[in-house]
Amino acid sequence: MEKPDNQQRTWKKKSTMKSSSNTEAIATQCVKVVVRCRPMDEREIARSYSRVVDVIPSRGVVEVRHPRDDPSSETVKVFTFDAVYDWSSTQQELYEETVRPLVSSVLDGFNGTIFAYGQTGTGKTYTMEGSKADHERRGVIPRSFEHIFNHIGRSENMQYLVRASYLEIYQEEIRDLLHPDQSLRFELKEKPDIGVYVKDLSTAVCKSATEIQHLMNVGNQNRTIGATNMNEHSSRSHAIFLITIEMGTIGDCGGIRVGRLNLVDLAGSERQSKTGSSGERLKEASKINLSLSALGNVISALVDGKTTHVPYRDSKLTRLLQDSLGGNSKTIMVANIGPASYNYDETLTTLRYASRAKNIKNKPRINEDPKDALLRQYQEEIGRLREKLAQKGGTQRRKKKSKRKKEDDAMDSDSEDDNSRGEDNKTAETDKKLIAEQLRAEKQEAETLVQRIKDLESKMLCGGKNIIDHTNEQQRALEQKAAEIAERKRREVEMQQKLEDEEVTMVGVRETYTTLQQEVDVKSRKLRKCFTKLQALKQELEDVTSDYNRDRRDLEQEQHELMKELKLKYLIIENFIPEEEKTKILSRIHLDEEEDCWMMKDPEPSSVDVIKRPTSVPGARRPVSEYARIALAMGRGCRYAGDNILNLDLDMPARTTLDYQGPVIAPTIQAVLEEALRDEGDIDVDASSTRLRTRTRMQSAARVRPKSVTKMQQIPAPVYPKTRGLVPK
Ligand code: ADP
Ligand code: MG
Repeated sequence: MEKPDNQQRTWKKKSTMKSSSNTEAIATQCVKVVVRCRPMDEREIARSYSRVVDVIPSRGVVEVRHPRDDPSSETVKVFTFDAVYDWSSTQQELYEETVRPLVSSVLDGFNGTIFAYGQTGTGKTYTMEGSKADHERRGVIPRSFEHIFNHIGRSENMQYLVRASYLEIYQEEIRDLLHPDQSLRFELKEKPDIGVYVKDLSTAVCKSATEIQHLMNVGNQNRTIGATNMNEHSSRSHAIFLITIEMGTIGDCGGIRVGRLNLVDLAGSERQSKTGSSGERLKEASKINLSLSALGNVISALVDGKTTHVPYRDSKLTRLLQDSLGGNSKTIMVANIGPASYNYDETLTTLRYASRAKNIKNKPRINEDPKDALLRQYQEEIGRLREKLAQKGGTQRRKKKSKRKKEDDAMDSDSEDDNSRGEDNKTAETDKKLIAEQLRAEKQEAETLVQRIKDLESKMLCGGKNIIDHTNEQQRALEQKAAEIAERKRREVEMQQKLEDEEVTMVGVRETYTTLQQEVDVKSRKLRKCFTKLQALKQELEDVTSDYNRDRRDLEQEQHELMKELKLKYLIIENFIPEEEKTKILSRIHLDEEEDCWMMKDPEPSSVDVIKRPTSVPGARRPVSEYARIALAMGRGCRYAGDNILNLDLDMPARTTLDYQGPVIAPTIQAVLEEALRDEGDIDVDASSTRLRTRTRMQSAARVRPKSVTKMQQIPAPVYPKTRGLVPK
């Protein structure tokens, strides 16, 4: 195995040893945060935007000036990081100085994660993937492929198994970018021995940098499928490329290590406007950056020092990368920013976010003897197959011997007895054939075994094959030099930062001075610096408070919208959903903690008898009911053959009416009613025509002489029966 190079030592040096065990010292190590500022693009140059960002790589400092401030003004915001890269930095510099040490650690069995964070269009994808066309502008991912396979090629006496997966998180849904079916969504699961993983995620064994690069291209192509607007999609989704490297010494089944490398191109960190959206749109908008805000919350909780609960479970991203934040992983965050004035707010937000992440402490640990190591399974299987093959070889030899013996026997008997020759010959022939057949079958089986061993062995990679190419002294020396330069640069930056810190703090104030004037000068200078720093801090405090207030207002607004939505839903439920339906639904619904959503249980099987459908009967052409079968057996013809197959009865709903029941009447009223309805016998009505005529005449007379009306009304009308009261007086 290769000796740890300079950079690996760097990792160890930067760590502060906490405790040591027999196998590996567990040290805490902070997340390494670097900032990269991209150059102004053509559009920005054409519109002559001013540059508000200053990057000073030698001091590890980024300065941001307010667009309204004078370029010469002293009021700049200063941020310090492990390393900073300006617009002229190359992909190689970033890889050699920052990323190589981490990938080397992964090749030693550590977990490693690289995040690219920042606003859309600031160079996250450029940093991670880079340009395909230009070899010099390859990003972190292709460079790490090359690094890994070069390392394996150079190693001696080691066996490796490299696997890769590629996934995407979009609106809190996981897509496997290497799966042929892109409509599938995958779930996160957790096991005590392996931690959080994506269930059924495809992994491909890779044997070379070209192969793994091809895999990445396939994934990237799949990423574009189904996305109507690729720019928008990639700025709202997180892409994670996972590489697992298992390693072990050849011939030693124990002592397997596994390193995992997560390469993460995060969604754009810009603020998503949620105002004005409602319903589905609101839900969508709240999901878009859920993973990113959860990441921010996890970082805050980790660096806070007081919070005991770290909200990893709030999003898919933070759950999946739990180990990379405050866990056992080595982590790098590349914060990407843009230089132009119109990006001022977002740039500041990114720098503040990155600044906080610097304080996350991890405890990197080598993963030794993992239970699920595929390498060991392969090694063991090869061992078993070899043993089987050896046994097969033994029996085959024995069989060949016996075949030869039989032939000899046949020859002997040939000469001994001519009479029995015919019969003996026949048995010998069949025996020979049988053995030959067996031999052929076993040979075939052995070949299959050899092929399987070859298959398994081809998946595992051993070093030393192309030692001549790779141990090319010049190349090695070059890499060594580059590593040394990177290390020196890193130390210089560290020293510079320490010096500046000391200058600002009052360390050294009690120096002795030759003259009073000199003392006054030095002290006034220091005081001025301290004062400037104080002002800057005050300003920062103000900015952060106003940012905080803005975020709070946004959240309140969002909460208000959600409350409105909730009230509407309540209104509908309370007024339009029958009470019993609501109770039924409530009894079936439960909260799935794992998925963090409400789930509906299947309804209990109904107590109402389900009518049994006729089943298929052997020999019959279609399902036949019991009745029809008996009828058929009794010779009643085929009339009932199809009977009861279709159930044409109406499925009557439950009755909602009652039969009419007459009213109950009190006995006194009943008696009165009976009295009233008693038969009266016939009533004579005299309707003779004279009377009618008289009346007509009288009516016309009345019209002429209205005064005589009262007189005429007094005349009793004998034709009608007398009125009778219903209630006796
Ligand atoms: P993001 O993934 O953050 O949305 P991109 O990586 O797509 O941003 O970058 C946006 C554009 O800026 C691309 O055209 C890319 O080539 C260019 N770019 C970004 N960073 C650099 C850089 N350091 N040097 C040169 N060009 C860059
Ligand atoms: Mg991108």
